[in-house]
Amino acid sequence: MRLQTEDELSAMEPEPQNNEQEEDGYGVLLYYKYAQIPDLDDLLAFYHSNCNSLSLLGRVRLSPLGVNVTVGGKLSSLKKHIAAVESYSLFEGTDFKLAACHRPLKDKVAEECGFTSLSIRVVKELVTLSSNPLLKSPAISNAGTHLSAAEFHSVLQNAGHVMDNDRTTPSEGIVLLDARNLYETRIGKFHKSNVETLDPGIRQYSDLPSWIDDNSDQLQGKHILMYCTGGIRCEMASAYIRSKGVGFENVFQLFGGIQRYLEQFPDGGYFKGKNFVFDHRISVGSSDTDILGNCLLCSFPFDDYSSRLRCTYCRMLVLVCDSCQKDSSTFVCELCQKHGKDVGLISFNVNGKPDAMSPQADDKTVSPDSKLSLHLPGRQGKRLGIEGS
Ligand SMILES: [Zn+2]
Ligand SMILES: [Zn+2]
Repeated sequence: MRLQTEDELSAMEPEPQNNEQEEDGYGVLLYYKYAQIPDLDDLLAFYHSNCNSLSLLGRVRLSPLGVNVTVGGKLSSLKKHIAAVESYSLFEGTDFKLAACHRPLKDKVAEECGFTSLSIRVVKELVTLSSNPLLKSPAISNAGTHLSAAEFHSVLQNAGHVMDNDRTTPSEGIVLLDARNLYETRIGKFHKSNVETLDPGIRQYSDLPSWIDDNSDQLQGKHILMYCTGGIRCEMASAYIRSKGVGFENVFQLFGGIQRYLEQFPDGGYFKGKNFVFDHRISVGSSDTDILGNCLLCSFPFDDYSSRLRCTYCRMLVLVCDSCQKDSSTFVCELCQKHGKDVGLISFNVNGKPDAMSPQADDKTVSPDSKLSLHLPGRQGKRLGIEGS
C-alpha cells in the first residue's frame, strides 16, 4: 500500500523549464477504498464541491461501505484532489493511481470512458458482483488476503520449486484466477509455466459468481491467487469464493492489480501481453512486446482495440485486424458463436446498419467496477489508441 510521493508525481511532469506545459498536463486518477463511511452526505458534498472546483470529469461512486473514483483533469488539479482526499482519515492506506496522459482525445473513447462529464452518485454497492437481486453480496470484510506485487511475484516464483529439477508437472497447490472479462484476458494474462491460470472467459463481472459456482472443483482445496486490473474486482469476488466455506479459505489477491505489478516489474514479470485499461490508452504493455491476442476472423496475432469494434449481438469488444476490418463490418464474438449466433443471422435495416441485438445485451461492456483500471505513471508501456492513431 503506497501513496505516490511528491518526487514520483513530479517525475511524470515535463522538465521544470516547461512550466507552462506542466500546467497543461492532463492525467487520469483512479482509486477505491472500502471503509465504513460515517457521514455519506458530508462526503458527497465534499466530492461535489472539490471535483467541480477543480474541473474534474469522470465518475465518483459512494456507498455506505466505500468509494470508487475514476477522474480525469489537469495533473495539478488531480494532485490537489488527492491532497484533499487524504485529509480524511478514512482514506488512510488508499492506493492512488495517477497517470499522465495527453489531452482527451478521441471523443468516442472519452465518452465511453466517462470522461466527458462529471457523475457523482450514491450507490448501494461499489461493484455489483451479481445481476441476480436474490444473491446477497458477500461481506467485503471476508475478502482474500492482499499480496503486494512483490509478494505475488515471489509466490509464483517459488511455485515450481517443490518439484523435481526440470520436470514441469503442474504445481498442485496453486491456481491463478483472472477475475476480468474475456475482452481483457484476450490480450494479456499471468502465465507461470507450472501453475494453471483459470480464465473464466466471461462477458461481464456479474457473470463471475456463476462461473465460480460451476467451476468450484477447480478451486476447492487450492491456494487461489486472484488478480484484476486495479484490485477492486478481486475484493468482492475473493469474498464470494471464501463464502463457500471449507476448502475455499486460501484466497489471495494482487493488491493494486496488474497496474501496480507492471510498475514493479517493467519487463512484465509473469504477466504476458498487455493490460487492458478503461481510459483512452486502451491497453498498456510491458517492455516485453509479445502479442497474445488474435484477430477474430483470420486468427493473426493482433491486440489493438483502438477501433473499438464490437460484437453485433452482445456489444462486447472484439479484436479484428486491419485487413479483416476492410472486408467486414459485422462481427460475432466467440461467446455468441458458442451460443449458435452467426453473421448470417444478422439483418440489416434500411440504413444498411446491422440490426441484430441480443435482448440481454448491456450496451456498455465497460462495467463500473472495471472503469477503475488505470496505469502506472511514468511507465514505458506501449501506448495504443488515441495518441497512436
Ligand atoms: Zn484478421
Ligand atoms: Zn457477442
